[in-house]
Amino acid sequence: MIMEKNNSFMNTELRLLILEDSLHDKELIIEQLLESRFKLDVTHVDREKTFTEALRNYKYDLIISDFKLPGFTAFGALAICKIICPEVPFICVSGSIGEETAIELLKEGAFDYILKDRPERLPHAIKRALNEVKENAALQKTERELLESEIRFRQVAETAQEWIWEVDTEGMYTYSSPVIEILLGYKPDEVVGKMHFYDFFAPDVKESLRKMAFEAFNERKLFRNFENKNIHKNGKSVILSTSGSPIFDNNGNVKGYRGVDEDITDRKKSEDALKQSEEKFRNLFYNHSAVKLIIDPDTGKIIEANEAAASFYGWQIEKLQNMNVSQLNDLTTEEIRIVMDKARTLKKNHFEFRHRKADNSFVDVEVFSSIIKISNKEYLHSIVHDISEKKKVEERLKLLNRAVDSSNVAIKITDANGHIIYTNPFFSQLSGYSAEEVIGKNPRFLKSGTQANSFYKELWETILSGKDWTGEIQNKRKNGELCWERSSISPIVNNDGIITNFVAINEDITEKKKMIEDLTDAKEKAEEMNRVKSFFFANMSHELRTPFVGIMGYTEFLFNEIEDKDHKEMLNGIMSASRRMLSTLDNILNLTKIEFDRLELNLKPTKLKDILDRLVNEYQIQIAIKGLKLNINNSNEELIFYTDESILTEIISNLFSNAIKYTEKGTIEIYSIIETEEENKVLVIEILDTGIGIPLDKQSMIFDEFRQVSEGIARNFQGSGLGLTIVKRELNQIGGTISVNSVEGKGSTFTIRLPIEIYEE
Ligand code: ADP
Repeated sequence: MIMEKNNSFMNTELRLLILEDSLHDKELIIEQLLESRFKLDVTHVDREKTFTEALRNYKYDLIISDFKLPGFTAFGALAICKIICPEVPFICVSGSIGEETAIELLKEGAFDYILKDRPERLPHAIKRALNEVKENAALQKTERELLESEIRFRQVAETAQEWIWEVDTEGMYTYSSPVIEILLGYKPDEVVGKMHFYDFFAPDVKESLRKMAFEAFNERKLFRNFENKNIHKNGKSVILSTSGSPIFDNNGNVKGYRGVDEDITDRKKSEDALKQSEEKFRNLFYNHSAVKLIIDPDTGKIIEANEAAASFYGWQIEKLQNMNVSQLNDLTTEEIRIVMDKARTLKKNHFEFRHRKADNSFVDVEVFSSIIKISNKEYLHSIVHDISEKKKVEERLKLLNRAVDSSNVAIKITDANGHIIYTNPFFSQLSGYSAEEVIGKNPRFLKSGTQANSFYKELWETILSGKDWTGEIQNKRKNGELCWERSSISPIVNNDGIITNFVAINEDITEKKKMIEDLTDAKEKAEEMNRVKSFFFANMSHELRTPFVGIMGYTEFLFNEIEDKDHKEMLNGIMSASRRMLSTLDNILNLTKIEFDRLELNLKPTKLKDILDRLVNEYQIQIAIKGLKLNINNSNEELIFYTDESILTEIISNLFSNAIKYTEKGTIEIYSIIETEEENKVLVIEILDTGIGIPLDKQSMIFDEFRQVSEGIARNFQGSGLGLTIVKRELNQIGGTISVNSVEGKGSTFTIRLPIEIYEE
């Protein structure tokens, strides 16, 4: 029962071919089988021909054959079966045929041999045969499948782009797909059984890769994308990406590895190139000395900032990367958005901003923005320059420009060849030429032609030697008028010492020059007049003096002859008036002499005491009449020095007589000391009075000719106003100076200082 259950074929009809010439025996077989519950589909044949036909026309599950048949035996039948249907089991059921024949028959391929008198064995034999057929079929199927799988594997392995391989536990190749030839230059049969996988590794990585591979082997690990550098048969290096899994034997032991290699050299190269370009960009960005930011134009968020940016703004990179550009500006977010839209859409890439730093200070910057794509999104790559210095320079330049433009001097700038490149508005005003008319020209069109070529030659030589030239140039205006200009031309030299430009600054001095000329003319005329005047005075005084000497001689003669007292008094009057006239004439004569520089010095040893004694003697009557006190304080009574005695006498006499004249009461004092100035002796004489004094504002003019302080008010005092002029000029002649110190109403002090040479006896 169990058998039946297990034998599924019991349920299906058994297609049976019986080769039997005895009908009885055939029935017996069928009976036997039916008894054993076989469902049967029986074909009965008894000849070779019908047997063969049956086999050809139908597919049987089993063949039962008698041994001895008409015209042939079971051997013949078996041979036919072997040809037509070798897989169908053949059981021989017959009378005894002898053991040897039976064995022979089994050898030839019969499944079993059953004696007719033991028919009960038949069902069992049939079951065994059918089972075996089934098993064989299963086995064949498996084998076929295996074969197919093998073929599939080979096909795949042989046609795949990747290299497919197998190695044993030692790493020796047991299979290699032909792609190896493309990948590494070897043919499979150069490799299989001959080389290990690590034989291809590049020497520099061989050991480490080998170790890694075997570690993976030992752990029976499956590995993927194991990158390894190999050397192609031609010597070039090839980067392979290897994936593999262990192969197990029936006992579950690893008997090798199977895997796939892909050539990733090119990919690696482009990956490396990408990496390098990425690194280059990274370096360019992060380590660049320029301040750089990458900004998301949609949000204004700073995506990246470099070192330079951190140190410029004063925020850490991380902090900057979390900021929005609006935080760097003094603009509103809306304004920023507009700017960024411009940068993105109008392709405008240059902006100026005021950026805020971490310390809240603002700095002028210019920003160059370009669009870069990162993962298909557009960003702004911004380079920020500090232009605060540039701005300052610009401001200064503007100021200078304004100064130059509004200046009242004509400014011309030429290039090194002397071609005008700039003129200011005043140049046009002065010359009559507009800037457009003169730019590019040589300034020689301004030449008046009145100055010699040597003048211009000297000018050019000076400025070409790098020096400034200043001088007066006569130029010609556009309207033909000549004008004088005071010109200063400076060469501009660059860092290499090469002259790049000339700057000429010209001042219009036409008017000034005319004024000076007029003044010089006037002065010359005045001097001429003065000379004429002096000459006239000299002659006149001489002419007048002669008759006076006569008048005085006759007056003196009459004085001695006449007895009458009243007449004598009159003659005295004539005498004193004549003396005054004579003294005035002397003064005029002296002055004119000095003016013509005709005063000849007569230096001789002189004693101050003698001069003072004579003067005191001369003026004592006048002093007495006025009731004045006189003090002489001469500290060097015996001192003798070289000077023109008559001139010194006249000087002191003038001052002494003024002191008497302008003093009504009080004292007149004369002091004299010797001072030493840098080893030189200086005679200091002071003449003091307690008279009317000189107002402060007049003190400077009393030494001018014909000036009297009382001039313009009422002239209460006699005098020509020549005395002090002569004193000053005479002192000048003998090397001395005079100064006055006076208080109106209190008195005056005149001080003369005269360097002297002491006379040693
Ligand atoms: P004058 O012949 O008028 O004295 P001076 O040249 O000697 O001419 O003096 C010029 C003027 O200086 C005088 O007119 C007088 O006003 C003033 N002056 C000179 N000496 C004295 C003095 N000692 N006291 C006051 N005024 C004086």
